Amino acid sequence: MRRRVPGSIALRGSALRRGQPMFGSSSLRRCRALLSRSTLFRRCSGSRCCTMRSGSALLGSRTVFSCGPLCRGCTGACGCALRCCGALRGHGAIGPAMSDLQRAAQEALFCQTILAKSGDNVLLETLRGAAPVTWAHYPPGDVFDPDSGAQWYYHCHDASPHAAEHGHFHCFIRPQGKTGPIHHLVGVGVDAYGRLVRLFTVNHWVVGDDWADAATTTPLLERFDVHMARPSYLVNRWLTAVLSLYQAEIAQLIAQRDACLDRHQPPEGIATREDRSLEVTSELMVDLAARAKALGV
Ligand SMILES: [Zn+2]
Repeated sequence: MRRRVPGSIALRGSALRRGQPMFGSSSLRRCRALLSRSTLFRRCSGSRCCTMRSGSALLGSRTVFSCGPLCRGCTGACGCALRCCGALRGHGAIGPAMSDLQRAAQEALFCQTILAKSGDNVLLETLRGAAPVTWAHYPPGDVFDPDSGAQWYYHCHDASPHAAEHGHFHCFIRPQGKTGPIHHLVGVGVDAYGRLVRLFTVNHWVVGDDWADAATTTPLLERFDVHMARPSYLVNRWLTAVLSLYQAEIAQLIAQRDACLDRHQPPEGIATREDRSLEVTSELMVDLAARAKALGV
């Protein structure tokens, strides 16, 4: 189990140790390089980019941390620069086109692969050694990206080791910023190994957000984009990729949520959206590996 080290300096050291497999043999030197875009830019050669065409080459850590410079640094001769930056959204990617779905699938797999190299997964990376307490938020205080208004936290409703779903990421958008309204988009369920298993929507009382119907909520899906270093850049990017990859399905789930609520007959005196007997309003079991394969990724 990962040792928890208090203090920012210790944490930084810990992060570098954890980053070692990610950055390869000269991890510390590369970490410094990551702080210098110009340095990184010069290091990005077409031959390096080309390797990213293969699955194993996706392990090139610079794809995550240096999308913009890497893309601009590629001449395009290798035809692959966008394979790496395509793993990231919202960076003004240039070069050969790749469908958004393929890029999202590639990014999700990429994040999983990098985490797996150090024996991690999105669940372990989120919990950071904490023994999960039912309904508690991980990380404490949630994750919020002020640029996009995206917010998420992880929690579990059922701590039973036999539960098929360990817990889930609740994903939100605050379209008007941190102090503005917050709208739940989707729950992203994972198993005990951090594997994506389910997407679902919930009744209003479950998350207590500012209610918005499907027509209002669905256009917000594409705004979910988390570029934060904490608690984990890879988890943030994985979640962003999952919401992008399944955007159409999530839109359907949100529409089904509203239809479910319209049909629901709550007990006398209880509002539908406050009815504790109705928790999950729509769900879809998903297999990320199969989806990626179907996309040719
Ligand atoms: Zn929940």
